[in-house]
Amino acid sequence: MEIKVYQKIITEIYSDIKNVEDLGKVANYIPELGNVSAENFGVNLTTIKNESFGIGNFEEKFSIQSISKILALTLAYKLEGEKIWQRVDVEPSGNPFNSLQQLESDNGIPRNPFINSGAIVVCDVLLSHLTNPKEEFLAFCKELSNNSSLNYSEKVAKSEKNTGFRNVALCNFIKSFGNIKNNVDEVLDFYFHICSLEMSCKELSEIFQFLADDNFRTHKGNYVITESQAKRINAIMLTCGFYDESGEFAFRVGLPGKSGVGGGIVAIHPDEFCIAVWSPKLNKKGNSYKGMLFLENFTTKTACSIF
Ligand code: GLU
Repeated sequence: MEIKVYQKIITEIYSDIKNVEDLGKVANYIPELGNVSAENFGVNLTTIKNESFGIGNFEEKFSIQSISKILALTLAYKLEGEKIWQRVDVEPSGNPFNSLQQLESDNGIPRNPFINSGAIVVCDVLLSHLTNPKEEFLAFCKELSNNSSLNYSEKVAKSEKNTGFRNVALCNFIKSFGNIKNNVDEVLDFYFHICSLEMSCKELSEIFQFLADDNFRTHKGNYVITESQAKRINAIMLTCGFYDESGEFAFRVGLPGKSGVGGGIVAIHPDEFCIAVWSPKLNKKGNSYKGMLFLENFTTKTACSIF
């Protein structure tokens, strides 16, 4: 589809949804996230031909939170290869993102890399490979997106560290099963930092091009992951990207995607585009209320779901 067509449809849906009553609430269990204006609403689509269209607050950076779990998984998968699946499974959890429940019966193997427990294990895998994890992870993100302005928010990382008792519990619980190999404080510090990464919708729709475009090479000419690895990451996004609402997202939107409690959502149409939406108010399951509504309308009007 031509960018002009996307542009027209995005503009129409944006103006419809902008005035819809938002039934969500801004996340404030990480206090710093509660300081964001609830009225922000941005959308950006970037095609694999590098054509881009954005609307609303599409250039404003926000806390990408769990969306960073895709980036952490990508780097860990690249470094660890298929062995990574011995440490984390690929099944939807059907449980809230921060749940401890299934870890007991699953012997400390998290259901998937996109819930907190899984991402904490992925961070542990990265710590075993990297000498300066925070710096090297950020450098990886910068290369992926050819964007040197990317950074963590120390404020958000600190705010989460002060209140992240559940994540502390998860990490210790998993370690009791032997599935965390490094120091718990170091794993958590790294995890809180990756969650604090800030990007705009435009930057998000650019950084995930490697999951849409089979021929993707970074600006340095490096390939990122194999086609098969990209297929698998997209598959986990489709089945596990929206906490215990992943089925609902597949049902309503029909694209692989990932949300974060900062109110961002990215979705991929393999071989076509990446689209990112941001609206901070979340529904009861922790997904952006307007973000989901927007994407549902978008794939309906464009007939651009993967199904
Ligand atoms: N940093 C958040 C947490 O661990 C991430 C949650 C999310 O975006 O799903 O609670």
